[in-house]
Amino acid sequence: METQDEPLDVLIIGAGASGMVAGIRAARLGRRAAIVERSSSPGRKLLASGGQRCNLSNTLETDQFMERVGRDGRFMGPALEGLGGPKLREFFHEIGVETVVHDGFRVWPETRKSSTVLAGLVGELARLEVPVFTGCEVLETRFEGGLFEAQHAEGTHRARELIIATGGLALPKSGASGGGYRFAEGFGHKITARHPAGVPVVTAEDWPARCTAHTIGKAHLQVAIKKHAKVARTGDLIFTKNGLRGPVVLDISRELSPLLDRYGEVPLVLNLCRGKTQEDWQGIFKEWRAGAKRSVQDALTEHLPLELAEVMCELSEVASDLTVQGLKGEARDTLARTLARTPITITGHTGYDGAFITRGGARLKDVRPETMESKLQPGLYLCGEVLDLDGPCGGFNLQWAFASGYLAGTGASAAQGVPQ
Ligand SMILES: Cc1cc2nc3c(=O)[nH]c(=O)nc-3n(C[C@H](O)[C@H](O)[C@H](O)COP(=O)(O)OP(=O)(O)OC[C@H]3O[C@@H](n4cnc5c(N)ncnc54)[C@H](O)[C@@H]3O)c2cc1C
Repeated sequence: METQDEPLDVLIIGAGASGMVAGIRAARLGRRAAIVERSSSPGRKLLASGGQRCNLSNTLETDQFMERVGRDGRFMGPALEGLGGPKLREFFHEIGVETVVHDGFRVWPETRKSSTVLAGLVGELARLEVPVFTGCEVLETRFEGGLFEAQHAEGTHRARELIIATGGLALPKSGASGGGYRFAEGFGHKITARHPAGVPVVTAEDWPARCTAHTIGKAHLQVAIKKHAKVARTGDLIFTKNGLRGPVVLDISRELSPLLDRYGEVPLVLNLCRGKTQEDWQGIFKEWRAGAKRSVQDALTEHLPLELAEVMCELSEVASDLTVQGLKGEARDTLARTLARTPITITGHTGYDGAFITRGGARLKDVRPETMESKLQPGLYLCGEVLDLDGPCGGFNLQWAFASGYLAGTGASAAQGVPQ
């Protein structure tokens, strides 16, 4: 692959969710576009997504969607207007990918296979004759003589507009390299601190290893640092041999990773009994008195799996054979407190290998949300995970990648006077 003579209209770096949609949009608007991809095949992270089933969006209205994203969610407004939930489903329908919602919230391909979504995108790129150069890692980018140049091992691509759709650092085996941050920096963009997000966490305590057989529904997790007490989430929790995972953990980990960097470890309080308060437990203990000979631990199994009942007693220094009648005074108060607010300390996470998204990236202040164009380098566009914007579990991140890619494709094409 040598340097082409005729420059492209739009060159896209990265054939992931955002880059492929950007290519489709630019080609549909009549632009000569091409995609360069460092992996041997496109869309590897897309294939891995949603347990290979690809939860590609959700049914939230735009305002609720942005609110759930939290910090900087409003930046997504124009992109979601262009290709938000219903329009995204229509887009996929047009390329032969039917979608379904079974739980009233998550949008999946009807086949429940991410490969269907990828095949739809790849097929549409082929139909539009957008070349995807795989095994082609861009090493350097520059803007010279009115054109962007992307240099790779086998030559250079030149284009009037450049879209950086290189994703983040999560799941390196999918092709994530972080190269896009370097390219953006080369054009003056600031890159905020990056952290693995959507990631299982490691705890100082070893008792979670005893509870791995159980999923706790509606578990509540809250950061026990006064200044950050607002960081809290409720959802399904799973114990691992060295910590915690499950939807609620993936969600709160977006907030925990930066705190871990800052504090080294992060204390949490857990409520594993569907929100029961200390007062609720005191009430339950009073009712127990009737069955005087029963052990506290046994009585607790009405509310918790046996292993957790044991852990709660140990943490409260309540002997395993103590009868409910013997539960009094300070011991009773300590147990009620432990059950309502179980302390645990987060000491780390499983890193980018186990993460599904990157928190941090190219600073949003430097990018126009209406077009995804750089404010620092005209003709340069950024979309998807490379930007400092991430959402929780539940189709938020792919929806953002698709919508921002679509908008970048529109922006890069409109910049050349194409009617929309
Ligand atoms: C295991 C897993 C499961 C997930 N499940 C879901 C889910 O169900 N729902 C959801 O909403 N989100 C999910 N996500 C998150 C979602 O996959 C990402 O948010 C999304 O893929 C980001 O899209 P992107 O196009 O920005 O980046 P990517 O999809 O990562 O694509 C970027 C592409 O750029 C290429 N690239 C990088 N550097 C270069 C370079 N220098 N030269 C050429 N090419 C380069 C990479 O190889 C890659 O193919 C999941 C993520 C993971 C890891």
